[in-house]
Amino acid sequence: MKNTIKLYNSLSRKKEVFEPINEGFVGMYVCGPTVYSDVHLGNCRTFVSFDIIYRYLVHLGHKVRYVRNITDVGHLVGDVDTGGEDKIAKRARLEKLEPMEVVQKYMNGFHDMMKIFNVLPPSIEPRATGHIPEQIKMVQDIIDNGFAYEQNGSVYFDTPKFAKESGVYGALSGRKIEDLIAESRDDLKNQGEKKHPSDFAIWIKADPTHLMHWDSPWSVGFPGWHLECSVMSTKYLGEKFDIHGGGNDLKFPHHENEVAQNHGACGHAPAKYWLHGNMLLMNGRKMAKSDGNTITPEQLFTGDSPHISKSYSPMVLRFFMLQSHYRSTLDLTDDALLAAEKGYRRLMEANQTLQGLNHPGNAGEGDLDKEINQLITQAYEEMNDDFNTPKALARLFELVSKVNGLKGGQLSFGEVTEATWNNLKTTFQIFIYNIFGLQDEMAASDSNGNGVLDGLMNLILDMRQTARVNKDWGTSDKIRDALKELEIKVKDGKEGSTWTVG
Ligand code: AMP
Ligand code: ZN
Repeated sequence: MKNTIKLYNSLSRKKEVFEPINEGFVGMYVCGPTVYSDVHLGNCRTFVSFDIIYRYLVHLGHKVRYVRNITDVGHLVGDVDTGGEDKIAKRARLEKLEPMEVVQKYMNGFHDMMKIFNVLPPSIEPRATGHIPEQIKMVQDIIDNGFAYEQNGSVYFDTPKFAKESGVYGALSGRKIEDLIAESRDDLKNQGEKKHPSDFAIWIKADPTHLMHWDSPWSVGFPGWHLECSVMSTKYLGEKFDIHGGGNDLKFPHHENEVAQNHGACGHAPAKYWLHGNMLLMNGRKMAKSDGNTITPEQLFTGDSPHISKSYSPMVLRFFMLQSHYRSTLDLTDDALLAAEKGYRRLMEANQTLQGLNHPGNAGEGDLDKEINQLITQAYEEMNDDFNTPKALARLFELVSKVNGLKGGQLSFGEVTEATWNNLKTTFQIFIYNIFGLQDEMAASDSNGNGVLDGLMNLILDMRQTARVNKDWGTSDKIRDALKELEIKVKDGKEGSTWTVG
């Protein structure tokens, strides 16, 4: 029972029993960030969701190879027809930096943020620019199989031909090729080199001013965004692997086109199960940078945002995310964060109580014993049911009431066996730390004795140092003031900043 997972496959639009292609092994690919700007909390939600899925699969004993890429070339602002510029090249031009400086800066920031939210690093984190020869080869394979054509040095995927011959274009996103034709009719005058408006570029000829380009059989240019994920997933997980994930805003065109490319090159789709996380909203609207409806992690930690009344810690945010299912939207509001803070503290305090409370011995097996065991089983069943963290969490909170009842004397240890009590202790440790990936911010170290607080403080002080280097005094002072509120004093010296409590 514990090992049978059902997961919702976006491709079949139903829950399916998870059966890895090779028993005991799981290959999972998740689309990573495009590193041209700071990661926002919406991005973080998607990576936290897949972190929990990864952790749970590992917990169940699967040997998981988790690949999460870094997009460092090819993601355009707009489309190639409308002269869309590569997002990283554009930022490099605006900031007068080398494109690789832009990539390094935002990739470092992304990694810092993943550490702060206790997101485990993937097994492999490949970068698109490190796989140009493989991408050129896939373009050639698609051309050779008759699903792509070259025009003036760029190469386009022949979508109508593929749709007609394979019958699968649109299967993932639910879009119909006829609708796509109708949708893009207005654009016909802009379609430029494409034979059809729904065709998409897999190799793009670079104009002479373009900062990132590579030689290829067709032109000096760069790969289309969708291509990198087809290539890197196949390279590291094989032509057919288990799970492909990402935010549901990537279903179309990114994932639909990935499926088309893999079919075009290898004759079949890459992944067996497609998992899509839903969006983080703020006050009811999608969190997105474009319309200012966003809050950065720094603003969350300092409280410096009109959207929140106070600062919130990384683990409160992680707990907040656990409270909703990954396929549901999650609305970030100040009230919801306040409630999450309370819930997080209650859970961690109950666990401290549980771990510190020894069974007095000499107990029989009563109804309470059965209830506890049942709730433990149910918590696992909820996770097995498409990784339902809010329901699993609800079971843990029912157990929290039992723990508090036993501590307060309203419930009797006489009804609980020592084995059940020890099982409960282990279950809480496993769920809180291994599966949910929470850390105890109220303790100086995590359950394994690692100095979590030290690590977090170093990261926060690093962020403050970066703000100071950038002369962003507002942010650096905010961080210092927020720490002061927590009675943490920061001293700036020549060797860097140090901190003391009290
Ligand atoms: P990007 O860097 O834009 O390619 O996005 C990286 C990941 O963040 C993708 O999987 C997106 O689906 C995801 N993402 C972007 N905005 C949000 C949001 N508001 N909520 C949840 N995930 C998001
Ligand atoms: Zn991708």
